Amino acid sequence: METLQHSIKIQRTQHSKLSTVDFNHLEFGKHISDHMLVVDYAEGKWGQPYIMPYGDMTLSPAMLALHYGQAIFEGMKAYKTTSGNITVFRLKRHHERMNRSLDRMCMPPIPYELFEQSLRALIEVDRSWIPSTEGSSLYIRPVVFATEARLGVKISDHYKFVIMTSPVGPYYSKPLRVKVEETYVRAAEGGAGFAKCAGNYGVSFYPTHMARKEGFDQVLWTDAKEHKFIDEAGTMNVMFVIDGKLVTPKLTTAILDGITRDSILTLAKDMNLTVEERKVSIDELIMAHQKGLLTEAFGAGTAAIVAPIAIINIHGHDYTLPPTTEGSIQQLIKGKLSNMRMGLEADIHQWNYTIH
Ligand SMILES: *Cc1c(COP(=O)(O)O)cnc(C)c1O
Repeated sequence: METLQHSIKIQRTQHSKLSTVDFNHLEFGKHISDHMLVVDYAEGKWGQPYIMPYGDMTLSPAMLALHYGQAIFEGMKAYKTTSGNITVFRLKRHHERMNRSLDRMCMPPIPYELFEQSLRALIEVDRSWIPSTEGSSLYIRPVVFATEARLGVKISDHYKFVIMTSPVGPYYSKPLRVKVEETYVRAAEGGAGFAKCAGNYGVSFYPTHMARKEGFDQVLWTDAKEHKFIDEAGTMNVMFVIDGKLVTPKLTTAILDGITRDSILTLAKDMNLTVEERKVSIDELIMAHQKGLLTEAFGAGTAAIVAPIAIINIHGHDYTLPPTTEGSIQQLIKGKLSNMRMGLEADIHQWNYTIH
């Protein structure tokens, strides 16, 4: 391990932008930290990682990622804990998911050691970019894309693996109005919905844009075959509280295997809540709402952690949920998750990867 870390070449910036950042008013993804990590893939293997000032790169407009979509990414967070340590939340699981995404897109896997040591070195270099106020973190964005310049349709022989980071503040999501989508599809079973590939976002923009024009914040994706079962909420996983139970759609190849989703389900079980991973139909939601049993709905993802849903629009009808309170299940779990990450509560699942 030592050997790889020592062999990472570091070219430091002469023009840090740190002083231009207002850490009290961070907008998600607006500021990118001073450095980036880059690794090139050629001749069947990943080369030496290097760290350089973040900035533009020279790339061919013929590079295959632009034409045929071999591009995947990850999104995770580093925290400064209350005891002053720097930790990354569930690093190993993010690495495993990245390799699943890469595999689906016929892109080469990234060895764990390369991923871990590269990330560690980058975070060390830009450690002063990690916010320390409660609810803030350093968002980490690894991305892998095909760089071979060629017009024929083929699997690329060349790739770049880049990691960038960005300081982010607490995410205050106003309760969302979501529309159950019954026309468009984000992903079908057998497709690449489970992979964090760039194309999944591209296809979701148009339906989301149309829903926004109708006054909604997000869409609730339904299954591609019948539009009867709920898949996800926009770019987050979705969870419901029905009759006191935490219910979420069971994973399929059309659903992204969210790490926040998994963390929430695990914590809910720790809290002795009943957790159900199964098909959730639109009809069930309507019925549960009519009986007053649908008490909460929320999105779950790394950026927001938990995003409360206020209104679910189904077949053009608004179903309004009770407002979230301090005692809401989503708030209790969010608090527990946050405490665990900040080191205020025992990390019993060993989710915090310590940088130092
Ligand atoms: C990233 C993502 C999520 C959430 O995953 P986390 O690991 O919790 O951040 C959910 N749905 C989609 C489509 C995503 O891209």
